[in-house]
Amino acid sequence: MGRITNAMRRKSIRTALTAALAATALTFLAACTSTPDAAATVDPSDQRPVVLTTFTVLADMAQNVAGEHLRVESITKVGAEIHGYQPTPGDIAKAAEADLILDNGLNLEAWFSQFVDGLDVPHVVVSDGVETISIAEDAYEGLPNPHAWMSPLNAQIYVDNMATAFGELDPGNAAEYAANAAAYKTELQAVSDELTDELATLAPNQRALITCEGAFSYLARDAGLSEHYLWAVNAEQQSTPRQVAAVIDFVRDNEVPAVFCESTVSDRTMQQVVEASDAAFGGTLYVDSLSEAGGPVPTYLELLRHDTELIIDGLTRAGS
Ligand SMILES: [Zn+2]
Repeated sequence: MGRITNAMRRKSIRTALTAALAATALTFLAACTSTPDAAATVDPSDQRPVVLTTFTVLADMAQNVAGEHLRVESITKVGAEIHGYQPTPGDIAKAAEADLILDNGLNLEAWFSQFVDGLDVPHVVVSDGVETISIAEDAYEGLPNPHAWMSPLNAQIYVDNMATAFGELDPGNAAEYAANAAAYKTELQAVSDELTDELATLAPNQRALITCEGAFSYLARDAGLSEHYLWAVNAEQQSTPRQVAAVIDFVRDNEVPAVFCESTVSDRTMQQVVEASDAAFGGTLYVDSLSEAGGPVPTYLELLRHDTELIIDGLTRAGS
């Protein structure tokens, strides 16, 4: 109840602010013929509650559950490094005006607890209830691998948590959030079946996934692939000579046809693996961020399909 009251109070503050900003925007518009950004960000008629997510993948999932009733935005932009992100004063101002913030949890967003500490805005950890896989090595050994969304089966749990949170935020539309969640979970199940079916066609000697970050533990578990990487979590973003040597040895010994790297980090070290072995560079996988709208993975479902295709193309490559 208090939560909703707070949301209402913030909304009336926001209405006043929005009216003031709209007046400013009108003055500005009168002086200048083309200001699409100002017009787009200041819409006084948009009274919907605001939900912020910590990164773009969660924003897309949340949008599918929210439908038209909530305004969903990501704090970090497309392509941002989300583990060690440094929030800006603008992010904090935006979050202070939000009605709900969704974070992944599992130590994904190293910056998040400090970020929300000073804010009077409820937040929900969307990975709650996921069965985690522990990180096997590095400084993070034994901690849960945070990339749980890379299994569409886990994403179904995320979606349930979102529907519950949205129903509490906006009880009048709770039934619709539940229905949206159910429909989206059906799509997630279909993609999950599709991925595991396609990856099941790989021969035993093609079942190794080599990436920069150890972000594929959940997908590898679903698809029965072994996982090898240059560093466990992107907050490090560099590997020791021993880790690089171990990956090169594995790729050579097992004649792995292709290796990969993720969109939010440099593939420089992985190119060393390519040079030191017969493996080809299989391309850029998406994990921690979607692409721009016109890019290869503007939605989470497309991210899963893109990564699966790239992995299959790379690992079924004949010779090198
Ligand atoms: Zn990551």
